[in-house]
Parts: sequence; C-alpha cells; structure tokens
Amino acid sequence: MNNFQEKLKKYAKLAVEIGVNLQKGQPVVISCPVEAAEFGRYLAEAAYQAGASEVIMRWADDKLSRMKIQYASLETLKMVPEWLKLLEDTYVDQDACYIAVSAADPNALKGLDVEKVTANKNTLDKIVEKRRAALMNSENTWTIVSVPTLAWAEKVFAPETGEKAMDLLWEAIFNVTRMNTQDPVAAWKEHIANLSKKADELNQKNFKYLHYKSANGTNLRIELPKGHIWLAAAEKSRKGTEFVANMPTEEVFTLPKRDGVDGVVYSSKPLVYLSNVIDQFWLRFEKGTVVEYDAREGKEFLKALLEADSGSARLGEVALVPFDSPISNSKILFFNTLYDENASCHLALGKAYPTTVEGGDGASAEKLMELGANVSKEHSDFMVGTADLEIMGETYEGQMIPVFRNGNWA
Ligand code: ZN
Ligand code: ZN
Repeated sequence: MNNFQEKLKKYAKLAVEIGVNLQKGQPVVISCPVEAAEFGRYLAEAAYQAGASEVIMRWADDKLSRMKIQYASLETLKMVPEWLKLLEDTYVDQDACYIAVSAADPNALKGLDVEKVTANKNTLDKIVEKRRAALMNSENTWTIVSVPTLAWAEKVFAPETGEKAMDLLWEAIFNVTRMNTQDPVAAWKEHIANLSKKADELNQKNFKYLHYKSANGTNLRIELPKGHIWLAAAEKSRKGTEFVANMPTEEVFTLPKRDGVDGVVYSSKPLVYLSNVIDQFWLRFEKGTVVEYDAREGKEFLKALLEADSGSARLGEVALVPFDSPISNSKILFFNTLYDENASCHLALGKAYPTTVEGGDGASAEKLMELGANVSKEHSDFMVGTADLEIMGETYEGQMIPVFRNGNWA
C-alpha cells in the first residue's frame, strides 16, 4: 500500500470516527460517486472496523443522472418510486448514520431543460423527505466529506487537466481538512473546542440584531429570534452522540427570525443550485422575504430556488466564518458549497435548523414558525463574506458591539 492509499484510509477513518462518530451495532448509509469507488470502499471498511452492523452503499453517478433528465419524460421524472422511499425511511427508523461523499461536477446538469431539472429535484425531495427532516433535527448523525472527481478538479484548477488537476484538488482537500497535520483526529478535537468557545461567547451576548455592511453594496439588518442558539462544528444527536456534520467546517451559526430580515445583500461567491451555477447576484429583503433580486448568471435557477415553496425566499441560517481561515486563505474557489461556505460568512435560503432555537428540537412546522424559525424543503447556503465585511451586534439595550471587522472576528 502506497502513501496516498494510507492517507485515503486515514481520511475515511476520520469521517467515520469524528464525522458521524459511528456507534457499535449501527448501520451506516454511504452515498458516494462511482468515480470515488476506492474511497467508498475504504469508508465501508472503516465503518465495519468501527462496529457497523451493515454498510448500505448508494453509488451516485452524475452522468447517469444527466441522462435520465435528458431522455426520460417529464411524467416519468415526476413519479416517486415507492421502493426507494421505503428504503430511505427504513434506515432512518433503524437509527442509521449517514456519510455523504460530495464530489459532484458543478455543471453536471448544465443546459438541460429547467422544468425537467426541477421536476427531478422535487421527486428526489419527496424520496428523502423523512431522512432530511431527521438529519436536520440531528436525530441521526451525519457527515459530508469530499473527494476530487475529474470534472470537479478541472473546473477548480483550469487550465490544468487530468491527473495534475486531481493532485492539486487532493492536496487542497487534505490541507483544509487538517489531514496534513501529524494527528488529524487530535487536530480536529482542538479545532472543535476553539469553535465551540466562539459559539458560547455569542450565546452570552444574546444579540437582538446583526447589522451587515460591505463596500459591494451589502447593507442588511438581521433580527435574531428570542432563544436563538449559536452552534459550531460538533453537534449532539438526540441520543447524545457528538458528531461533525461538515468536514471541513469553520462556521459558527444560528437562525434569523423568519420575518426579521431587511435590506440588501450581495453574493461574494457563486452558488451551485440544481447542478447549475448562479453567480454575482443580490437579494433585497423586506420583513424577512425576498422582494427583488438579480443575477449576472443563472437567474432562472435563482428564481426556481426562490419560488420552490413558501419558505424558500426567506432565510434559515446565519453563519459566521472569518475571512482569515484555512479554506479562505487557500484562495481557491471550490464551486462546492461544503468548501466555499466554510471560506466565507454565509446565509441560507430555506429551512432553519430546529436545533438552533430553544424549543425547536422535534417541534412541528407550526411551532417552529411561532418560534421565529423558517420552514421550507429547501436549504441553500450562499456566500456573503468579503475582506471588508463589517458586522455589528445590537443588544436588547441598544448597545452596538463589533462582531466582525474587516472580514474577521472583531
Ligand atoms: Zn452553514
Ligand atoms: Zn447551511
């Protein structure tokens, strides 16, 4: 076994032990692109070695997905296969943990009919409805990790191609996931402790508003609901298992009040939605909802996102990430939300994490809205952090305290 394979094995172990923190006797559902089959098998092996009762492998293939949307009828794309739904629901009930290997080609569905792409997405949403709700409630533990695929590597490192692009992306991934440290597991534990301290500080401040300002035109006021909770890196499942949902993660996050967002915000990086790129866009909010918007690229996909349901034009997440952090410092635009969101302060359109508000865990949609949390089937992060971003926190007494100055913690 060569060095690289050793490293892959370690990376798989990190995802199993720190990521989902697999418990003995638990099934694990892994979704992995066929191109990353070798890594998928290492994940499976690491899971069995950690005591998994069963590994359920769900191979994903961008090219097959594209083919289906291209050739299958709209009618077929709208059909929800019951057996697939049953499979998804079964493992949620069996308390499985979930590892997703995110390595999609950001342009996988480029040029396809928007109506068919949307229909396909809506069907997938229905199939995974129960699983998604369980994961957002931290009922089951989950993690997302990435490995390079050729299309992705070539997009990130153009004009480099082939193996050279792949090597560069591997190196970048190993750097920002702390895999290049002596002891990645220990490095992660230290990182988790640091981020948790930031979250504690923000919880103590208990801000009523956050005011965002940047030279690009961003001028936004976000109200935080009573009882909001700042979370970071490691979360606890309902059973008390500590897990890290995103690897890498650099963010500290909470929820905005669903009707408490006013002003304009400009994107600072492209957003990939429905496997299409939306770039250089802005949103204007009134009482929490987007009332005006525009985009240089992919406006029809931004429209599809905003009109997806009654909650997709409202915010569900506010996340703080310093401009001076490993992913941001790499100066690489990853075209992958897992990486790009952890390089930049971001917001999310759509559903709020119920665990970010007191009383939200396990609450009904009605109750969540009462608590000020947004409800939607969507949850799409978009990046707003810039080198000059200023965020002021306003307390209930009207005191203004700097939270971010020049893109970093004040
Ligand atoms: Zn986030
Ligand atoms: Zn998010």
